Amino acid sequence: MIKGIAASKGYAIGQVFLQKHEEIIITDEKVSDVSAEKERLQVSLDASREQLEKIKAKAMVEMGAEKAEVFEAHITLLDDPEFTGAMAMEIENNSLNAMKAVETVTNTFVSIFESMDDAYMRERAADIKDVSKRIIANLAGKGGDAFAITENNTIVVAHDLTPSDTAQLDRSKVVAFLTNIGGRTSHSAIMARTLEIPAVVGLKDITEVAKTGDMVIVDGIEGIAIVNPDEATIKEYTAKKEKFEAEQEELKKLINVKTTTKSGKRIEVCGNIGKPEDVKAVIENGGDGVGLFRTEFLYMDRDNAPTEDEQFESYKYVLENMKKQVVIRTLDIGGDKTLPYLPLPHEMNPFLGYRAIRLCLDRTEIFKVQLRALLRASVYGKLAVMFPMISGLEEFQAAKELVEECKAELKAEGKEYSEDIQWGIMVEIPAAAVYADELAKHVDFFSIGTNDLIQYTLAADRMSEKVSYLYNPMHPAVLRLVKMTIDGAHKHGKWVGMCGEMAGDEAAIPTLVEYGLDEFSMSASSILTAKKIILEQE
Ligand code: PEP
Ligand code: MG
Repeated sequence: MIKGIAASKGYAIGQVFLQKHEEIIITDEKVSDVSAEKERLQVSLDASREQLEKIKAKAMVEMGAEKAEVFEAHITLLDDPEFTGAMAMEIENNSLNAMKAVETVTNTFVSIFESMDDAYMRERAADIKDVSKRIIANLAGKGGDAFAITENNTIVVAHDLTPSDTAQLDRSKVVAFLTNIGGRTSHSAIMARTLEIPAVVGLKDITEVAKTGDMVIVDGIEGIAIVNPDEATIKEYTAKKEKFEAEQEELKKLINVKTTTKSGKRIEVCGNIGKPEDVKAVIENGGDGVGLFRTEFLYMDRDNAPTEDEQFESYKYVLENMKKQVVIRTLDIGGDKTLPYLPLPHEMNPFLGYRAIRLCLDRTEIFKVQLRALLRASVYGKLAVMFPMISGLEEFQAAKELVEECKAELKAEGKEYSEDIQWGIMVEIPAAAVYADELAKHVDFFSIGTNDLIQYTLAADRMSEKVSYLYNPMHPAVLRLVKMTIDGAHKHGKWVGMCGEMAGDEAAIPTLVEYGLDEFSMSASSILTAKKIILEQE
């Protein structure tokens, strides 16, 4: 039995899929024996072809001919003399080592394709990168597939899962995941709760203990993984799983119940989402709206930023489907969330660096695309917009000025937007909490982002399992900041929500109700339990 950090509740019993995830370092070292190096390249090209043939056959059966075509295109690339032939030439003419040769040719091809006008051709750059990654992995002896999951009831075991890795998991096959690193508020954990699959993170060396094909039990409540359990343990956990599922069924009775405390205060219990489709889970769990739409997920898993029209469609979809208030947070990139097409400076402390609103106010050409899309979508429902990582009034005002610029542009273009949008900020930097009573004069609402607020207040990295013992939502200093924020807002008649994970923390909810929090927003899977607890409060 291995103890980690419970990241998403529930139980799963299934088969391990070990995700190989080792960093490959490519050096500039020249080679003396060019023909041996060319041979090495050929061997890895052959291995790549063999792997791709297998994946293609599998895809054909499971996903149909159309999906399998992607792999056919990859195989064709391996045969393309301009592509792989150029790699051999780089070795021959410039004595590059094989990995460097692959990287050099790939970079040239990718930049050519990415600059093309035709969208189809631009997308091919992603295929080139994929194939090249495979060749390099084979050269490094680390070939194979990260996510070629074919079995039902699979439990992914990985060193870490990036937010985009997590978003890519095939929900029809993956029933849980386990990682070596991470904390309860790392984004992989948050994604697990969004996907409503159990997860345990911070298991330290689970990738050393579990192998692909092993049986494993995931206990997302106690934060435990049991590799190759005996019969008695399987029986015990099968019973626990059934009991848990029955309790979840019972909670469903609260779906349409309005949440009020015993003394009659109405409290909104909303859901956090990362992708437009996640809104379905919020509705199914009886959410009173969306309290946080993390829009950065729209920007992930792709080679370029989503266009204004694409974003408009996503926001419109959520507003139209939710039919209740939707709080959309503007782009919060940086920290542990990066984009391949938006290189960020290397910083010692990325969580304290160039991220979120700081980046958006600097890269206004990116930010304005989003603001225009939000304004245009506003006519389709009840929209509230909030800016992340606000530390002072100037940032909010600068963001609002850009909003005004966008409105003027849209007006001139004859495009519609609503004047009835609420504009708020995330309170996730201690400075904003301390200054809340002043900020409240200018904003329509606050949403407390405790995931960051706690890490900044206690100087305890939310990603580090080593200091997770310090990361305590109930620390008196954190509670004081939360209370100051609520009191500061109420002094000026503004409402306050909380969209950090603390809002769904069963132990914290009674205190938050007592402090007068107006709205709680959490993973859809926590909504019904939160409703039950709030209904029991005075
Ligand atoms: C937070 O910091 O509490 C929050 C909700 O934002 P994120 O987890 O995306 O940083
Ligand atoms: Mg945050």
